[in-house]
Amino acid sequence: MKILDGNKVATEIKNEIAQSVIRNLKLNKRPPHLAAILVGENGASETYVAAKVKACEKVGFVSSLIRFKENISQEKLLKKIEEINCNDDIDGLIVQLPLPKHINEIKITQSINPLKDVDGFHPINLGKMQLNLPTYISATPAGIVELLKRYNIETSGKHCVVVGRSNIVGLPISILMGKNNEIGNCTVTLTHSRTKNLKYITKQADILIVALGKSEFIDKSMIKEGVCIIDVGITRVKSDKTKSGWKLLGDVNFNSVKDSCSYITPVPGGVGPMTIAMLLQNTLKSANKEVY
Ligand code: NDP
Repeated sequence: MKILDGNKVATEIKNEIAQSVIRNLKLNKRPPHLAAILVGENGASETYVAAKVKACEKVGFVSSLIRFKENISQEKLLKKIEEINCNDDIDGLIVQLPLPKHINEIKITQSINPLKDVDGFHPINLGKMQLNLPTYISATPAGIVELLKRYNIETSGKHCVVVGRSNIVGLPISILMGKNNEIGNCTVTLTHSRTKNLKYITKQADILIVALGKSEFIDKSMIKEGVCIIDVGITRVKSDKTKSGWKLLGDVNFNSVKDSCSYITPVPGGVGPMTIAMLLQNTLKSANKEVY
């Protein structure tokens, strides 16, 4: 079994981005600028946004973190988004999800200028992805594709089974894996909570992408010998063995499958760091006007 080391590949990508920023500065171009909006005080969201802001600093981007209280009105939030949409000094805008219940997430997502939607959640960008037009592919699916590419994993003609059909992970990655692209050309099966005989299907996968949010759900009995496993899941559970008192678990029981699979992404250190690297790459793309 080989580890698909997301930390290593993400560092490579971030170094490439940093070099690109330096080259642009030499041409008197300003550094890319990512704005992040955070509403409320959700612990996980705070951690994710802090990691994104830190990553921006490391590659030489400018970042702006805009915080609002939990009770901000939808109207006020939309006004801020419009302000950023019109600000030529900002290349990318992300609104950290989930949002409080009184705010309509779909409306917020759709209010972001598609040319600044570096999360790739806007319907226009999702549509462009389907048509292979220049766009921002959302960071987690883009990170999975990039990881497979940099490890030279053969995907053409393989059976890819995706567990989970969320708009940000399962659904887009199932589309990407079936496309006629360098990483793609798979025969794809998209599974979800209503799927019958899931084990029968996962056991047929050459490439198994798991994003359902249930820790250690996939074990040895559910996979085929030699499968390549991409574990997207992140669940925080209490632990008396770590300093922080918490540990992260994936959707795959690593110890159970490790001797049977060909490749696997660890949790942490697999898809997670790739997600941040691809968000930076999307922001650079925006600054370089590669999406239009
Ligand atoms: P969602 O909760 O939005 O979607 C979960 C999906 O899993 C749904 O489609 C659901 O089916 C399906 N599902 C639930 N139970 C089962 C089951 N028993 N069998 C088959 N399918 C099932 O999750 P996300 O996609 O947002 O996230 C999934 C995991 O990935 C989470 O742990 C999340 O933290 C992690 N994540 C990690 C990222 C990273 O950077 N590494 C980025 C984003 C997410 P149905 O549609 O029928 O309800």
